[in-house]
Amino acid sequence: MKQMQPPRIIPRQDHPISRSMISPNVIRILYRLKDNGHTAFLVGGGVRDLLLGREPKDFDVATDATPGRIKKLFRNCRLVGRRFRLAHLHFSDEIVEVSTFRGSYTEEPAGDLATLAPGEAENANPRSQVREDGLVLRDNVFGSPADDAHRRDFTVNALAYNIADFSILDYVGGMEDLDRGVIRTIGEPSLRFTEDPVRMLRAIRFAALLGFSFEEMTWRALVENAPGITRATPPRLYEEILKLFLSGEGEAIYQHLRLGGLFAPLFPGFSQWLERETDGFPHVKISKNLEWLDKRISEGTTVSAPLMLSLMFGEYLEEMAAFHRKQGVSPLDAIQAAVADFMGEQTLLVAIPHRVALAVRDIMVLQYRFIKMPGKRPQSVLARQGFSDALAYLLCQCETAGEGADIFAWWESYAKEQVLPPSTMQKDPVAQVPKKRRRRRKGRAPATSA
Ligand code: ATP
Ligand code: MG
Repeated sequence: MKQMQPPRIIPRQDHPISRSMISPNVIRILYRLKDNGHTAFLVGGGVRDLLLGREPKDFDVATDATPGRIKKLFRNCRLVGRRFRLAHLHFSDEIVEVSTFRGSYTEEPAGDLATLAPGEAENANPRSQVREDGLVLRDNVFGSPADDAHRRDFTVNALAYNIADFSILDYVGGMEDLDRGVIRTIGEPSLRFTEDPVRMLRAIRFAALLGFSFEEMTWRALVENAPGITRATPPRLYEEILKLFLSGEGEAIYQHLRLGGLFAPLFPGFSQWLERETDGFPHVKISKNLEWLDKRISEGTTVSAPLMLSLMFGEYLEEMAAFHRKQGVSPLDAIQAAVADFMGEQTLLVAIPHRVALAVRDIMVLQYRFIKMPGKRPQSVLARQGFSDALAYLLCQCETAGEGADIFAWWESYAKEQVLPPSTMQKDPVAQVPKKRRRRRKGRAPATSA
């Protein structure tokens, strides 16, 4: 049994977090747990972001109430998760994650099996499971608040705000690292990255988003363990890739990933191609595209996963398409084959969902349709689901490489004309009403005499 230090307690007057900064739903959850005799903390990124004066993405609650007990206390509760057993409390505008304090998978469980809800017992047996190579497969052992802090990934993510007295509990030196702007794993970094390689990507995301630097041992362990990133499951890696490149700091993250040696194992074909390029132009290209995306995100525009992937890998896809064209394949078939090649290459590493792969294909194919203005059937181009993403892709080319401005202008104005046909919209509003609705209004006087 490892020795746990008592936490450093930062009283309310010595930190800036007030209840008004926390979502009212979360405050109600914390009080409900407390009033029913439980310990209840706000934990994770919410505490970290509030202390940094940033708006938290979400709030997480940790408690000594078991999942079964949480389900009894909250009607809007759903128990989820296989790897971790969690409660999701559903509200109209948010879902709050409430987890029971978890212990370390190497120690005996501190929780009581008898308190588990029906169905939990079989799920929880075995409650923790570590693969031979150190990867943690299952981690469902209850623990103390101290255990719960220690099993978290980074010191700055392990602070807890206690609703009982509004203090902050710091078991692992998170406050100091937050003040100094440092990402440091809790415990031995190599072990923590072996248990869960996705933590390496999370480290990079937090460093880039918060503008933090890496504690030396953490960075060294990350570089050493980087090739092991592929031990994480492909669907989880895809989820993390989305978080990384849609965070608004995609360009900085790309640079960090390359520096740490994490990018090449995830995208080997693309990385080999980049290395073969001698003039370094594609490096500049992907950076510029990511900067363009970051700007768009910072302006509040939603960027889709297919657009992000197309802008990251479009140049490479075009190059592969050129190879197919040389074999005598038509341009449209060539780009489709290139997208299929790329998706095939990626599928065992980063599981890009099929529908996303199809949407990437659409964005790339439409670039060829755009070149023809107006082409045979411009309406069918406009009607394609990927049209607006494909146009955004083209806009990025115009703004970053000065290519295709005339093509963009033509399609943009064509799209506007088609969406708002001035001839019909202005003259006769009734002509816009679908026939069905007009029929239902029978008996009423016609709205116009036209
Ligand atoms: P954000 O929500 O802004 O992306 P976050 O730190 O809140 O950042 P979440 O994924 O919401 O991240 O997780 C909540 C908390 O759970 C984290 O702050 C961390 O304490 C813990 N956590 C999440 N993922 C892991 C992991 N892979 N290993 C250990 N602890 C983790
Ligand atoms: Mg969070």
